[in-house]
Amino acid sequence: MTHVLTAGLSHILRLRCVRCDAEYPTDSGHLICPACGRDGILDVEFDYAAIAERLTRESLAANPDTTHWRYAPLMPLVNPERRPPLAVGGSPLYSCPRLAAELGVNEILIKDDGLNPTASLKDRASSVGVAKALEAGATVITCASTGNAASSLAGAAASVGMEAHIFVPARAPEAKVAQLLVFGAKVYVVEGTYEDAFELSMACAERLGWYNRNSGINPYLVEGKKTVGLEIAEQCGWQPPDWVFASVGDGCSIYGLWKGLWEAEQLGLSHRVPRLIGVQAAGAAPIVEAAHSESDLVPIAAETLADSICVGTPRNWRKALNAVAESDGKWLTVTDDEILDAMRVLGARAGVFGEPAGVTAFAGAVKAAKMGLIGSNDRVCAVVSGNGLKDVVNAIRATGQARRVPPDIEAVMKIVRP
Ligand SMILES: *Cc1c(COP(=O)(O)O)cnc(C)c1O
Ligand SMILES: [Zn+2]
Repeated sequence: MTHVLTAGLSHILRLRCVRCDAEYPTDSGHLICPACGRDGILDVEFDYAAIAERLTRESLAANPDTTHWRYAPLMPLVNPERRPPLAVGGSPLYSCPRLAAELGVNEILIKDDGLNPTASLKDRASSVGVAKALEAGATVITCASTGNAASSLAGAAASVGMEAHIFVPARAPEAKVAQLLVFGAKVYVVEGTYEDAFELSMACAERLGWYNRNSGINPYLVEGKKTVGLEIAEQCGWQPPDWVFASVGDGCSIYGLWKGLWEAEQLGLSHRVPRLIGVQAAGAAPIVEAAHSESDLVPIAAETLADSICVGTPRNWRKALNAVAESDGKWLTVTDDEILDAMRVLGARAGVFGEPAGVTAFAGAVKAAKMGLIGSNDRVCAVVSGNGLKDVVNAIRATGQARRVPPDIEAVMKIVRP
């Protein structure tokens, strides 16, 4: 299946296989490396010298567009104007001095990507995926997802009148399924794992010719996710922090984060790339395992309440390992209890409500501070990748139920002034 257009992509040099390093021209029509098959995920290589002439600190400062399309010269699109209208990106980066004091670090920055149109970082990828599908003349798009890729794809597709067929595992939280239904997607709740849902959507894409938004296959999605890294660098006045924490399931997001931070440096916008810490849930940590054993990934049966990163067979593990290694970074796991603690702490101290996978990066930062991995002079950023309203069942699990009172001031007084 070839869905790659060629004209107008002169700012792209080539596609390169992350497994065997083979190079392919942008007009080769490949979504994956033909020599390596599904293991051969491609990476898009840009002509940074040419892009640097168009994208400068000054041109960005003068650009009134606050969405992630402000980085359009770095997007793999023939015509960046032809895209979903939703306002993706431009999410806030908060400095949280009380949290920094508690953690014993110089500064902690929270990048709240839960404020995207469908409330997760995945909107960055889906907006580019749908733009690529429009480019390819596709009228139907599909993906499998633990939840957020699905809701973001459904929203982006709805915004341009494209039909979306979505495969989600049975464990997807209700709010995410509700988003799909409201956006009018054709939803298939697969009685099985995320891996089963993935295989089913792959098979349908192949048999029915639907455009494939699966990030384990489509090399262009990471080019949307990289804008989170570009934004962090720009929002720091091109003085990026020492460490950036990211929660990891499939591995696509952290690679995108790294690529954006790295491109900011390539283009001469910022002077360094922060060290990345990839954080996985302890029950779903095959990439951390591969990093620590310095071996290829071994799939596992994943189990964590952080549904968005409950991935036993990550497709982008190679890209994720490369990103963290390139940045001289590290890998960490956190338990489900640490994730729930992080949700409460982040909510109560910073006013930011993340879903379990959304706060996993912050849970990693808390743990790294306790372990002495990050020091008192360090500036640290944690990306909150999904909004807490997507999974209120686990939020209430973290906080406990609210207190009930009769409608009586004396009863309240007994509580306030016991
Ligand atoms: C998808 C997702 C992640 C992880 O991204 P991967 O590309 O799967 O590693 C983290 N947090 C949230 C909220 C997500 O939806
Ligand atoms: Zn290859």
